[in-house]
Amino acid sequence: MPSTPNTSLYDVLGISRDASTDEIRRAYKSLAREKHPDRGGDAEAFKAIQQAHETLSDDGKRRLYDMTGSTDGDVGNDGGPGMAAGGIPFHFMGGMGPFGMPGVAFDIGEMFGGLFGGHAGGHGGPGGPGANRRTRAGKGPNKHSDINLRLSDFYNGREIKIRFNQSRRCGTCAGSGAESTESCGACGGRGVRVQTRMIGPGMVAQSTGPCDVCSGEGKRIIRVCGTCHGKRFLEREKELVIHIEAGMTDGQTIVFPGECSETMEFEQPGDVVLTLRRVDEEAGWEWRGDNLYTRVTVGFGEAILGFRREIAGHPSGAPFAVEWSGGPIIHGTTLHVKGHGMPRKGRPNERGAVHVEVQVTPPEPRTWTEAEKEQLRSLFGVEDYGATVLEGLVRLEHMP
Ligand SMILES: [Zn+2]
Ligand SMILES: [Zn+2]
Repeated sequence: MPSTPNTSLYDVLGISRDASTDEIRRAYKSLAREKHPDRGGDAEAFKAIQQAHETLSDDGKRRLYDMTGSTDGDVGNDGGPGMAAGGIPFHFMGGMGPFGMPGVAFDIGEMFGGLFGGHAGGHGGPGGPGANRRTRAGKGPNKHSDINLRLSDFYNGREIKIRFNQSRRCGTCAGSGAESTESCGACGGRGVRVQTRMIGPGMVAQSTGPCDVCSGEGKRIIRVCGTCHGKRFLEREKELVIHIEAGMTDGQTIVFPGECSETMEFEQPGDVVLTLRRVDEEAGWEWRGDNLYTRVTVGFGEAILGFRREIAGHPSGAPFAVEWSGGPIIHGTTLHVKGHGMPRKGRPNERGAVHVEVQVTPPEPRTWTEAEKEQLRSLFGVEDYGATVLEGLVRLEHMP
């Protein structure tokens, strides 16, 4: 099956998030063999398998993917494996910039034409509607991304660094791309000019509109900025440090104001909005409020005599065991272990409880010997009905 935005790379390879490098390789090899298009496999599915392997077999890429759900090389893709709606905001150090960077592919026409585009009613005379193709008003859109975390990250806290290419307006030319300009010769610096068009034999139409030479700016570049080479934006490596603090919750957002790339369209760059997402729900530890919920299965005899069980996967990373020695316990009983739950919001040194539901496996049906019956009767204080004859007695039989 081709990968969908909600299918993780681990799902694609049919492995767990804890899979070893070896397991990844083996899963990939067998799947690639099975799903190869030469053997009638679906080409898209095969590609997804290859991509999953490429990311997960590289330690660096895998770590990045685990943290953010993003994969390197997904540039321009609108939402990749494990990503929330809204596309992939992080293009980690590769190709086109992240966070709405304007891109580096400036064409010459744009460079020398609409270079000063944007200031509505600014210099260069009356622009009028449509005079400027770009408006630079307000703030650009925010970029949203999920940060994928394990329960242990929320429990212990964690620091995550993400790096990406961020564009900022060139300081040398203030984002104009020009070191020096001159008044546009075509419009005399007014930004508008009268254009004459033939509309038929002997018929001429005149219209006044934005100057097509300077795109209504009234200025032309005579020397391109040496710092940004006319690109107007400079790209730099930006690192954001995300502090996952104990007490933060699944679904909580962390905002980095103005950390999107600056673009031509907007005066101010948008915010980077990161949503913390827990991704290991399947691990058997449910999280509600500051409490954790899990289960333990014990035998019938243990339910009567007591038990001790280690439960794997407590987010502290330390061994977590429950013990019961208080006599018979019935199926569905919940044991509470105080102080081992999740950190309390705002009071990270306090923790909620772990609630352990005890599931009791019933004993195999069996027939008791007379001696056993006698012992059990005396233990549980059960009357011996065997000798009693009740009127209208219906005998209960075990249905096979
Ligand atoms: Zn002009
Ligand atoms: Zn510049």
